[in-house]
Amino acid sequence: MLLFKLFSLCVKKIDSDGFSTIMYVKRMKYLYVKSIGTVERQIIDHVAAALDSMFPLPYRIIEDTTYPLFAFEPRRNQYYAKEIIKQLSADVPSDCEKMVGITDIDLCTPVLTFVYGEAQLGGDVAIISLKRLRQEFYHLPRNDTVLCDRIAKECIHELGHCYGLFHCFNHTCVMCFSSSIVSIDNKEDTFCAGCREFLHGRMRKEYHEQI
Ligand SMILES: [Zn+2]
Ligand SMILES: [Zn+2]
Repeated sequence: MLLFKLFSLCVKKIDSDGFSTIMYVKRMKYLYVKSIGTVERQIIDHVAAALDSMFPLPYRIIEDTTYPLFAFEPRRNQYYAKEIIKQLSADVPSDCEKMVGITDIDLCTPVLTFVYGEAQLGGDVAIISLKRLRQEFYHLPRNDTVLCDRIAKECIHELGHCYGLFHCFNHTCVMCFSSSIVSIDNKEDTFCAGCREFLHGRMRKEYHEQI
């Protein structure tokens, strides 16, 4: 599945005899996983591995221990997801194909009391929160296997949005909307046939637009 993504830059080279040659210099693009605030390294590595198995891109990890205080809403004790996405988007590396931010802080939107994650539809950046994916949030013992399963589903879901996918009515598809932790647990960590076809078509389109 791992097909390294390349994009090409045209470079004009003038030969000694005066003829010019168009050369193509290929550069690799990456899927970035960026931790925001304090996130355990094993969680970040798990996210990267899950995405590596699902998306045909090599990945890079950025660890940023600062908290996005500019997005904090003290009356709710939560952080606005869109504000964080806006800042991540303004700061993506030039070789970034897509970026997913991972954080332990609780995320919300102006109209939703909380979100597990948020993404730019058809854009570059997504973010997910671990806060409500942890068993401890529901007063249950810590379970890293369950946590990692949920993280993988949410990351894949939000990146699906970045590739232009909307919510899917197939309840087992990873693109199915999850309003509760039970609905996350009940879906698979893979795309249904229809979503997969759309995703692959979009990936091919983006690749060809770049060369
Ligand atoms: Zn969604
Ligand atoms: Zn689907």
